[in-house]
Amino acid sequence: MKITLIPGDGIGPEVTNSARRIIDASGADIQWEIVEAGASVLKTYNTPLPDHVIASIKKNRIALKGPITTPVGKGFRSVNVQLRQKLNLYANVRPVKSFEGIPSLHSNVDFIIVRENTEGLYAGIEHNIGDVAAESIRIITKEASDRISKFAFELAKNENRNKVTATHKANILKLSDGLFLKCAKECGSHYENIEFEDIIVDAMSMKLVQFPQNYDVIVAPNLYGDILSDMSAGLVGGLGLIPGANIGDEAAVFEPVHGSAPDIAGNNISNPTATILSGIMLLKYIGQNKAAQKIETTLHKIFREGKHLTRDLGGTLSTEEFTNEVIRELLKQ
Ligand code: NAD
Repeated sequence: MKITLIPGDGIGPEVTNSARRIIDASGADIQWEIVEAGASVLKTYNTPLPDHVIASIKKNRIALKGPITTPVGKGFRSVNVQLRQKLNLYANVRPVKSFEGIPSLHSNVDFIIVRENTEGLYAGIEHNIGDVAAESIRIITKEASDRISKFAFELAKNENRNKVTATHKANILKLSDGLFLKCAKECGSHYENIEFEDIIVDAMSMKLVQFPQNYDVIVAPNLYGDILSDMSAGLVGGLGLIPGANIGDEAAVFEPVHGSAPDIAGNNISNPTATILSGIMLLKYIGQNKAAQKIETTLHKIFREGKHLTRDLGGTLSTEEFTNEVIRELLKQ
């Protein structure tokens, strides 16, 4: 099966190369179609997101993507946000799981953040009001709120989860977050076997840090989902461990939650696990469960033993050495 591979910027090429080598070694039936996007192609194509990249994903319907740098406060619009909007990848799914053997603030953590991926503050509708103020417009629609709520409840049903928690700020943003909450509540009324609760996002942050084991599926508007997922990464060992999927009706793009990590790019020390786990999500999504299971079992074994870890997890291995170790274990199965 043909899959689009976008290496990305910063640590993107090293983590996607690692995931690709491991997926290939797992015996998965995948041919990669490599296309470049991001800061590195800006000069060549006069855009960080050339049309042929979108065309490749539309054709293959599935992509694995490395992180892409977004200039802060100036420059081109986020390629990641553009991709999600152009392909209508409305659901961002981010499983947060602790691993036995990995030092972390909490153990037995296993919840999924479902983040609305197309609107809210990420629509990037902003303008200056002279040089005295700037205004951002945040639109929340019934259509997108219904759609993401249904996605979260269906995910909970399919994964035998017991509870969906909607997080919001409807006490202050009574209209926009109020609408989001109303849609989530209404959707929940159609799933009698799944408990529904709602928590204001500031309280949610505290509760997640104290009792992350209490959560199953969390559904959130775009910005809250983004912030909560990086925070949640910190609960279980860091950004090097959290995968993600951007899912729409016509295409799905799998990518780690972390960014291009310019502070460590080019040093061969990044942790490729988040991208490998994104690859496992991809394999399951396309029905190649055997290969997915093999890689998952191998990672669990390596983490449980705790001898072969990258630096962010207290080990000494480079990205490449860790990848070689995963492949060595994988081939034993
Ligand atoms: P970041 O996620 O790149 O890095 C945050 C911290 O985590 C850094 O200290 C980094 O070294 C560390 N880290 C991240 N991934 C790691 C890994 N795999 N292994 C070990 N350590 C890791 O966040 P940032 O520095 O705020 O953003 C850098 C750039 O990435 C920005 O341009 C931002 O816009 C972009 N970004 C892109 C995506 C995406 O492509 N989906 C997501 C988030 C940020």
